[in-house]
Amino acid sequence: MLRALLLAPPGAGKGTQGDRLADLYGVPHVATGDLLREHVANGTKIGREAERFMTSGELVPDDLVTSLVLERIRGTSPPTGFVLDGFPRTLSQAERAYEWALENQLTFHAAVALEVPTEELVGRLLARGKTSGRVDDSEDTIRRRLEVYGDVTSPLLDFYKNRGILVEVEGTGTVDEVTDRIRTRLDALDLN
Ligand code: AMP
Repeated sequence: MLRALLLAPPGAGKGTQGDRLADLYGVPHVATGDLLREHVANGTKIGREAERFMTSGELVPDDLVTSLVLERIRGTSPPTGFVLDGFPRTLSQAERAYEWALENQLTFHAAVALEVPTEELVGRLLARGKTSGRVDDSEDTIRRRLEVYGDVTSPLLDFYKNRGILVEVEGTGTVDEVTDRIRTRLDALDLN
């Protein structure tokens, strides 16, 4: 059962590849952005708290996100596999997730980093903004989200490299090409 996370900047294809990997490996795709947007749409307490951070391209507080994700994973039965998309995004989230994984003997097999040049990311997100209806797909907020990724999330590349599970994959080309690249690398791992 695959336990992986996608670690990449906004627009790199986490959502698309997350869906595909979840299908291929028969595990749930857990996307924090989607979970949070659902809360916002439903006007829950979590949604009301998260909304202003999301709209401005900032990260939602660690505690709120971490409990949301771990609850979601616990809710899958049996919770032995998953593809995480958009979590962890800070070192504190990564450390908390690792503690949880050790306690539950569910450590991750792979952190898949998708590499895409910044200007291509901006172009992809602006194009997506025309149809996504996402308020954070506007140029200023896109730039801020990329900055936050560079400052706060990209240090996780080293965190997972040091743990020996970083899988770096070129994220350009067709969706199929990227999926094939990831799959080749994941299939070479021992997914027990
Ligand atoms: P995404 O759909 O992954 O681009 O996430 C959209 C927004 O949700 C982000 O810009 C953040 O405001 C928030 N968000 C999603 N995942 C996290 C996370 N792990 N930690 C903090 N904020 C998050």
